[in-house]
Amino acid sequence: MKVSIIGSGYVGLVSGVCLAKLGHKVTIVDIDEDKIDMIGKGMSPIYEQGLDELLAQVHIEITSDYRKISNSDIILLCVSTPLSEEGDISLQQVTKATEQTTEALKGKRKYWVVAMRSTLPPGTTEEVIIPILERTGKKLGRDFGVCVSPEFLREGRAIHDFMNPDRLIVGESDKKAGSMLLNLYSSFDVPILRTTIKTAEMIKLASNTFLATKICFINEIGNICKQLGIDSYVVAKGMGFDKRIGSEFLNTGIGFGGSCLPKDLKILIVKAKKMGYEAKLLQEVADRNEKQALRVVELLKNHTPLKGAVIGLLGLAFKPGTDDARGSQAIRIVHTLLSEGAKVRAYDPAAMENFKKLFPQIDYVSKEEVLNCNAIIIATEWEEFKDLDYRGKVVIDGRRILKAKEARVYEGVCW
Ligand code: NAD
Repeated sequence: MKVSIIGSGYVGLVSGVCLAKLGHKVTIVDIDEDKIDMIGKGMSPIYEQGLDELLAQVHIEITSDYRKISNSDIILLCVSTPLSEEGDISLQQVTKATEQTTEALKGKRKYWVVAMRSTLPPGTTEEVIIPILERTGKKLGRDFGVCVSPEFLREGRAIHDFMNPDRLIVGESDKKAGSMLLNLYSSFDVPILRTTIKTAEMIKLASNTFLATKICFINEIGNICKQLGIDSYVVAKGMGFDKRIGSEFLNTGIGFGGSCLPKDLKILIVKAKKMGYEAKLLQEVADRNEKQALRVVELLKNHTPLKGAVIGLLGLAFKPGTDDARGSQAIRIVHTLLSEGAKVRAYDPAAMENFKKLFPQIDYVSKEEVLNCNAIIIATEWEEFKDLDYRGKVVIDGRRILKAKEARVYEGVCW
């Protein structure tokens, strides 16, 4: 099928190369000329396992020219939906991209489907997106269809997750639209749930906020375990054998970050509030998660005064396997360390460039130099941190790097 993808970020680029690998003819549109240039040369602008290799294998067209989408069967909207300064979701990118898409398709005669892969508050596609798509006189159901096709990939494992989904969720304006979208994924033998558009938007948010809650829950158990001298990883292992609980997302530590879980919590909290419902549990999850990051700083203070100290930070990405520092717990840690008068020397194998945009004032050094600091905090569980020589050091571990137990002083955040 002819597929156009709007937005070449983590979701758009991964979807594009994977769909090309599945045999579809893919055109990607972005407004960022630097990204277009890099992808055009076969280089991925993001760090994601296997992406460079896949880019080299497939043919995709990448352009800033929206006219190139006019003969597509399906258009996947994958632009960002960040939080605004006020803490509400910003629909600016998604409405702009929808307007540009609408304009590009105004002369199109053959039926097409627009599928939303950006995460949106329930109701947004019907209330905001469809009215824009109908602005040029085209009619939903007659000229085109609309779907919500939520993406569940994890950064760091994005290609694997795209190619091996647990399920396909299709919110459809009508059967014809949903069936056309499903043709894209005909090689996947997985459960398919076809729903209303609004329900699909909610499934995405409910899934992510559940995962956030699960992490927050196990961290609460972990904080109690720490006080009791119990290893929370052993507790989680014991819990995880129970099929009703499952073993995933039970790693205690400094909590979740990224551009999805914190934002998706916020989207649902704000949406509920607008309707007069206070989502207290979700709010508590968000608040607790913010505090969890700072537990490593509190533990550190028991071993070293922060004022004037040089603190080494291992890990800046919100998780291993990505260069993405958006929403990373390391951001909160650095803020606090700096406000308490410490100097920070940081290392990350992939996310230093992105982190520099947020904190140009800290030092970015090699991992060996981090080890020479007065004390070290581990904030991301990169594999390479398992091979360092921690002997003689003071280490506060937020991510369970057991090798660091050889340090002179070692404290785990929940163990
Ligand atoms: P991103 O910021 O990495 O990429 C967005 C891209 O859209 C950028 O390259 C930007 O230049 C481009 N863009 C912005 N406006 C545009 C326009 N008018 N026309 C064309 N391109 C435009 O975002 P992302 O992380 O890929 O997330 C995209 C959406 O998918 C978000 O709603 C996010 O919540 C959701 N999502 C993200 C993930 C993830 O792991 N990152 C997973 C599932 C869902």
